[in-house]
Amino acid sequence: MAVTKKKAAPKKSNTVKLKFDTSWNYAPAPESKSAATIHKQYDLFINGEWQKPSGKKYFDTINPATEEKLSEVAMANEADTNKAVTAARNAYEKVWKKMPAKERGKYIFRIARMIQEKARELAVIETLDGGKPIRESRDFDVPTAANHFFYYAGWADKLEYAFPNRQASPLGVAGQIIPWNFPLLMAAWKIAPALATGNTVVLKPAETTPLTALKLAEIIQEADLPPGVVNILTGAGETGASIVNHPGIDKIAFTGSTEVGKLIQRAIAGTNKKATLELGGKAANIIFEDAPIDQAVEGVINGIFFNQGHVCCAGSRLYVQESIAKQVIRKLKDRIETLIVGDPIDKNTDIGAINSKQQLDTIHKYLNIGKKEGAEMYESSCPLPRKGYFCRPTIFTNVAQSSRIAQEEIFGPVLAVLTFRTDDEVIEKANNSPYGLSAGVWTDKGSKIFNMTKRMRAGVVWANTFNKFDPSSPFGGYKESGFGREGGLHGLMPYIHLTHQS
Ligand code: ADP
Repeated sequence: MAVTKKKAAPKKSNTVKLKFDTSWNYAPAPESKSAATIHKQYDLFINGEWQKPSGKKYFDTINPATEEKLSEVAMANEADTNKAVTAARNAYEKVWKKMPAKERGKYIFRIARMIQEKARELAVIETLDGGKPIRESRDFDVPTAANHFFYYAGWADKLEYAFPNRQASPLGVAGQIIPWNFPLLMAAWKIAPALATGNTVVLKPAETTPLTALKLAEIIQEADLPPGVVNILTGAGETGASIVNHPGIDKIAFTGSTEVGKLIQRAIAGTNKKATLELGGKAANIIFEDAPIDQAVEGVINGIFFNQGHVCCAGSRLYVQESIAKQVIRKLKDRIETLIVGDPIDKNTDIGAINSKQQLDTIHKYLNIGKKEGAEMYESSCPLPRKGYFCRPTIFTNVAQSSRIAQEEIFGPVLAVLTFRTDDEVIEKANNSPYGLSAGVWTDKGSKIFNMTKRMRAGVVWANTFNKFDPSSPFGGYKESGFGREGGLHGLMPYIHLTHQS
């Protein structure tokens, strides 16, 4: 008797593609690239001049939206780090710490103004090198970077008012290592308070986004900052490690992954080096039933999808009160269908390119994990450019609190939606995370905002808004999101010794 094999039932997919309306479209509105001068090759910025790397090695930096090479930049090795730290030490001892604070402030003001003057060029370079939409780099990154320099320039000669009855003195040479998500802004966050307090700097930008830091080096040179006060070394993890391990470094300021943050902490254990670490995040955005729903939905979209989710404080976990969950999820799905994914240099683009192939692979890995864990995945059906690294905005529903997509940082345009019934329940769920960088609360009631913000273990809690930054407010995390604060008066503290005035 012939045995007929039963055909396996087709596997039920839990991926739902939404419908992208192609019947209308904005006409392309690309920003002109002619505003930007990118050299073919960049050396290291040490002691106020451009120096060839000792190892004679260079590496490419590409445009993640087109995969085209933009330039090649020097790979700094230990010998270069040594040169940069020596230059920074000399500048500290002989010039910068002795200079009247008012004069130091003038240099910082000058850098701020020059960033404003070159804002368009910086924004274009940031977008070409990093993949973020020009709207973001033009309207947020570059102006906020200038504002940080303005803000800290103002403090330079007022430290006695910032810390009354105490004497603030600089630490010495600061080693600063920054990531690829806000290349110029992170450089500003780190350089401005260090200079205002009388320290000198060796800074390393991320290997995939070195160009705006190198442009900043040109600005610093043009601003006539004394040689060695700011040195910029390009390279990858090894270069970063050589800065961390250098005995001439007094303070490490690091923003990046929790994994590398832990390595750094281990490396400096037992030394006198001070450190601030700003690491990963998995921000909870909480919508209560009394919230203004449309405003909250827009805030959630802004919090995770704009900027490709490449923000450590991105609102990647959404907690919606059960009574309004259906309505909120429907509105979110409708809204992601209208987001424009594409060429970041186009002024209409909402979601630009993922910063690197490696990061895109990580995001895809998490999309698969989410599906395997049984969550339902809604992906925008928008077309993606054929070249470059792009990812559609994606929402997961039916997500369990223990699920990896609700616990781990994805760093992409991926939102995990969970529900709750009571305040106590959502506090417990929101705090049930190894991270504690930021959070958001959406409600009509002021008392609820205060109640929630007091109980949430997050460095920043936004109420009825999200991802808002100002140079005068401190930013930083709890738990595995790191320690120390950047921004505001708090941002001066990691760069000084305070002694009581007799
Ligand atoms: P991300 O995941 O955001 O790329 P990383 O922590 O890998 O974060 O990188 C952030 C910055 O840290 C980059 O400038 C990178 O080159 C640097 N870096 C990577 N590994 C090390 C290390 N072992 N020591 C110091 N810096 C490092």
